[in-house]
Amino acid sequence: MTGVDKTKARISVYQGDITKMGVDAIVNAANPSLLGGGGVDGAIHSAAGPELLAECRLLHGCAVGEAKITAGYRLPAPFVIHTVGPIWRGGQHDEAAKLAACYTNSLLLAEQFKLRSVAFPAISTGVYGYPRPQAARIAVDTVLAFLAAHPSVNKVYFVAFDAETARLYRQLLEPEQPV
Ligand code: ADP
Repeated sequence: MTGVDKTKARISVYQGDITKMGVDAIVNAANPSLLGGGGVDGAIHSAAGPELLAECRLLHGCAVGEAKITAGYRLPAPFVIHTVGPIWRGGQHDEAAKLAACYTNSLLLAEQFKLRSVAFPAISTGVYGYPRPQAARIAVDTVLAFLAAHPSVNKVYFVAFDAETARLYRQLLEPEQPV
């Protein structure tokens, strides 16, 4: 196995609901207020319970591309890493760098908290409108680069809510496989 293949072996694609994942931390695609929203953010808050919102209120928001951590409360995951993706505005507004920063800063927090397994949703690809193929490529490239340099985070799951997003991740991670 090459070095890249060994790093890829630490990534899995899963199609379903991220709130069910029994990992050390799930990542929330939050909005800058951190006070809840729709999509994956709404699903995480409703599964975690009101204590999550109470802790989020203490964080005073989060800038685009940055990440903050809370407990997971009633979730199977003991921690939630909240990150704020960029809103897609055509691609000329630093969206790619900001989206990459979401993945890197979330994983840096995971490393700081000695978390071994992290599950990501497809950040920015819902209400924020980031084109799914471009977002998937940034997610995969950024996570591969991080994992190659940081052995302490052992496992990353890309959680796709829909089949098309799952296919995009799989194609990037296993291009030799029929799709
Ligand atoms: P954003 O505002 O960052 O675009 P959204 O929550 O609208 O965030 O969407 C981000 C991605 O999360 C979308 O691809 C959406 O399909 C997906 N999603 C929504 N609910 C869930 C869930 N329960 N588990 C995993 N992914 C989800």
